[in-house]
This record gives sequence, C-alpha cells and structure tokens, in this order.
Amino acid sequence: MHTTTGPMSMTHLRNLSLDELRDFVRAHGEPEFRYRQLATWMYARLEHRFAEMSDLPISYREQLAGCAEVSSLAVASEQRSAVDGTRKFLFELRDGARVESVLMRYDRRTTVCVSSQVGCPLDCVFCETAKGTFRRNLSAGEILDQICALKAEAGEHGQKINVVFMGMGEPLLNLESLIAAIRVMNDPLGLNLGDRRITVSTASFPERIRELADADVACSLALSLNAPNDARRRELMPKASRFSIAELLDAARYFVRHGRNRRVTLEYVLIPEMNMSDADADELGALSHRQPFKLNLIPYNPGRKDPFARPTEAQIDRFVSRLLPVAPAVTVRRSRGVDIDAACGQLWNLSLGEKKPVKGVARFNRGGE
Ligand code: SAH
Repeated sequence: MHTTTGPMSMTHLRNLSLDELRDFVRAHGEPEFRYRQLATWMYARLEHRFAEMSDLPISYREQLAGCAEVSSLAVASEQRSAVDGTRKFLFELRDGARVESVLMRYDRRTTVCVSSQVGCPLDCVFCETAKGTFRRNLSAGEILDQICALKAEAGEHGQKINVVFMGMGEPLLNLESLIAAIRVMNDPLGLNLGDRRITVSTASFPERIRELADADVACSLALSLNAPNDARRRELMPKASRFSIAELLDAARYFVRHGRNRRVTLEYVLIPEMNMSDADADELGALSHRQPFKLNLIPYNPGRKDPFARPTEAQIDRFVSRLLPVAPAVTVRRSRGVDIDAACGQLWNLSLGEKKPVKGVARFNRGGE
C-alpha cells in the first residue's frame, strides 16, 4: 500500500480489464508478453511500485511511473483487534472519499471484506453505513485495490483468500464495476479466484440478481433477508423492501439454476426484540424449508448509540434449535473484531464525525412480542 498521491490524469491500471491492460502496453510499443509481466506484478506479486518490477526494462518502468499508477488507495487509519487479530482499514481514495475494508483470519482461511460504494443509499435501520451519507459508487479498480492491499497485508496467509462484498454499500447498485472487478478476480492472470471464494452480498434487486447470474463471471450469492416476513422487513430495511421476499427468493432460485448450481446463502441478522421470537424462527424455517439455500445467522453487532442490543448466547441457541429441524444448513457467524468497531461503517462514521440522527428506539420496539 502506498501513501503518495498522484494526479487524477494518471491511468489507474487496476481499472483496466486484462484485455485493456494488454492494449495499454501494446500502445506503448511494448511486446505482447509485457502485459503478462505487468499483470503478474499487479495481481500475483501485489507490487504497486514500478521501480520494483525488476523484469521490466528500466526505461519502461520510468515511462509507466510517469503516466500510470497500480493502486489508488492510501491507508487513512487501521485498527487491530486484540481479541482475534482482525484488522480493519480505512482507505482514502483519490478524491478524498473513504471506505472500509476488513481482513479476518480464521484457522485455515483468510477472508477480506470489501466495500462497493462510498456510503450506501439504502437505509437499513440496524446498519452503521446507513447512518452516513451516500457519496458514490467505487470503480472496479478501487474494489480490486482493496482486495490486493489486504491480500498483501495478509502475507503468507494471503495465498488463498475469500472475498466477501459485505463492507460498505450495496454491490448490486454498482453492478457494472462489480462485474468488471469479478472478471479480473476470476482471471488466472488476475487474482485467480473461483466462485467459491467470492461472495456478493445483496439486500434486494431481483432483476439485478438475475443479471449477475447471467453475467460471464463466477461468484456466490448471499441475500440479506433479515426478517421472516415482508411487514417486518419493511421496518428493518425500508428501501430494500420495494420488492417482496417472494420476488427475492425467486431471483435467488434463478441464481442457483443459472449460476453454478451453488446454494444461495440467506443472511439473517439476529436482533433481540425485532426478529428472534419463536414465531419468527418458524416463519424463517418455512421460507427456507427444502429450498436450495443455506442460512447464515449473524448476531447483531451494535454500533455506538444504537437502539438495539446484541443477542445473548441463550437467545441465539433458542432461535437456532427451533430452526434446525426445518431449515437447510444453518450456521451462526461469530463476530470478528468486536473490540474495534468492526460492524460495517463503524470506522468510517467515526472518521466522518457526521452521523444522521440516531433513529428513535420506540419506533422499532416490538411491544408485546
Ligand atoms: N448491502 C449489502 C452488503 C453490505 S451489508 C447487503 O445488505 O447484503 C453485509 C451484511 O452485514 C448484511 O447481511 C447486513 O444485513 C449485515 N449487517 C449490517 N449491519 C450489521 C450489524 N450492525 N451487525 C451485524 N450484521 C450487520
């Protein structure tokens, strides 16, 4: 990762498809194989300094340094969890906008969680990102930069990584850049990651789910359901609920059939008093029974001044045991980096110091349930 700032006119090389990278190098009068060398530095060796690209002629390294940059990110701040080593980065982009990315180590795997937008135009009431202001979509290069930066930080553990689009933003509202980034992620000359290693997480947009299924890229899909019925979903995720749960699950089944027949994960954030009653578990079980889905339950991670509480282990156990007999594969996601504001948007919000007013507790309390 570098901290220098370059002029906006520099070509951001990770914004180019691999074909465009070949054309770029060819336009400089360089032989065809040169672009393979450059791609290897950019995506396999994760080197952003042209001066270090030792198999390129020195004159060409100098030429590139004058007109291009590999990465457009600088680290604005980093937090490291004392509990589990999770590292959370706040990156600054060329225009000063900031996004978060998280590097997580589990026993045998490394997962990087990346952002697709600066802020998010959806307004899910439990989400930290929704408390800030939506600024813009990220470019494909800005998405790839986050992944490459974290992979480099992971060192030897970064050889095999999983990428999840669960940072800031709604990836399907930035579909063009998302697909361009995944194309490079899939390519053997790019990051060489298959569909099992890339998960796009979305809150809505059935037509775009179908578009992603039909696109010439390989990835897995997670759908943030978060509620057992449409009425509850509208309370929790007002803008994402323009489409019904039935429409979303239909699109998810389409993704399974037209993608690589991989089951879609339904994500469900567990929020006490909101969506964790026995009746909620039964409704969720019925929605997912005998369907090509997996259920991933995410204990709610409260931000500062949040109106909702974190669920207790007993509450989680009760919900899971009620679901297990009916639902397909159920997993509970264990929170990472709870001591470092690792819920998406938390670090960003602290850095902006500009929160929308916290919404009233009363409105979301489900009295009597
Ligand atoms: N917009 C996309 C991706 C970003 S959110 C989406 O909605 O899927 C990624 C996941 O984090 C979603 O499943 C979301 O429901 C969940 N999430 C958001 N805020 C959370 C919080 N405070 N605690 C736990 N999970 C949260």
